[in-house]
Amino acid sequence: MNRWQKNLKTCVTAPDELSPLFNLDTEDIAQVAKRYPMRITRYYLGLIERPGDAIWRQCIPDPLEFEDQAQMEDPLDEELLSPVPGLIHRYPDRVVWLVSSVCAVYCRFCMRKRRVGCTEATETGTRQAVLAYIANHPEIRDVILSGGDPFLLEDDVLEEILSGLRQIHHVEIIRIGTRTTVTLPERITTGLCRMLKKFHPIYVNTHFNHPKEITAASARACARLADAGIPLGNQTVLLKGINDDPQVMKRLMQLLLKIRVKPYYLHQMDLVRGTAHFRTSIDRGLQIMEGLRGHTSGLASPYYAIDLEGGKGKVPLLPEYVRRDDDSLLIRSYRGEVVRYRDVEKS
Ligand SMILES: *Cc1c(COP(=O)(O)O)cnc(C)c1O
Ligand code: SF4
Repeated sequence: MNRWQKNLKTCVTAPDELSPLFNLDTEDIAQVAKRYPMRITRYYLGLIERPGDAIWRQCIPDPLEFEDQAQMEDPLDEELLSPVPGLIHRYPDRVVWLVSSVCAVYCRFCMRKRRVGCTEATETGTRQAVLAYIANHPEIRDVILSGGDPFLLEDDVLEEILSGLRQIHHVEIIRIGTRTTVTLPERITTGLCRMLKKFHPIYVNTHFNHPKEITAASARACARLADAGIPLGNQTVLLKGINDDPQVMKRLMQLLLKIRVKPYYLHQMDLVRGTAHFRTSIDRGLQIMEGLRGHTSGLASPYYAIDLEGGKGKVPLLPEYVRRDDDSLLIRSYRGEVVRYRDVEKS
């Protein structure tokens, strides 16, 4: 067993393990964790400096997760847009394949809260069905492995998936989305990188949300991937009270460039049930984007994007894409549709 696998076994999953560490009553936390599982690596837990800080809020269950029953579990209609279980085909030329349903840390703001940590990993049977679907759709040239976290699969399982994809000639690029660089950096072994290199062009998207997540260990993990010739991008989720501050966001983007990670997306929080307490207003997001553009390297500016409900797709939010109409915003989708968005109060 690898060191990363041993470390995964020592994750904190029982809320009462937190009480001696932080001297707190974990009854509330336990109630929440029954519905939305908790899992925190010892490494990530070690980044917490005090209860309530930016790391804490991302991983410790909060009773506020229950105070959001108005939202839907799957506002993006991912299940509806799924031609075979585990595959989302929303755009013309690319698909998302949910190859894993587990993660090293369960983020409290996760957009796939409905399934991540709750269901079993994709079976081999459905894996064949997904590969057959992709093989039968020559328009698919870009396959994004997501989940859950694809890097929680063992190397040989991941290798089977990648080699299956590489046998399909029209698949040009493969992308992998992972948060292990942030939550379990020892997962990025030299063995993993050696295996990945065989299937180029491979792109990896990481998921850093706060400057404190950029440590010597996470920098080493990213360096290994970059040295294997893998271009690295980053997807940040805009989170209230965590990174919804122009200075914090600017520092995060600058530190990402230092570890050879290009900021790709800054995501407006999806309207997913159980995550309302993390949602910021779009005005705040636009302000943060204005705080980046021109004030620091152009390379440090991601696209600020919202994922429209019902699977209409991601739209970059720039001042000219947004029209104000009374108390709501009108946003143009990538196909020219206009969607009405009810913004939250300015924070
Ligand atoms: C985000 C996403 C993609 C990839 O979008 P890009 O803009 O190409 O990065 C593809 N499919 C689905 C369903 C997505 O949510
Ligand atoms: S790593 Fe990604 S998929 Fe996993 S819990 Fe966090 S946000 Fe969700």
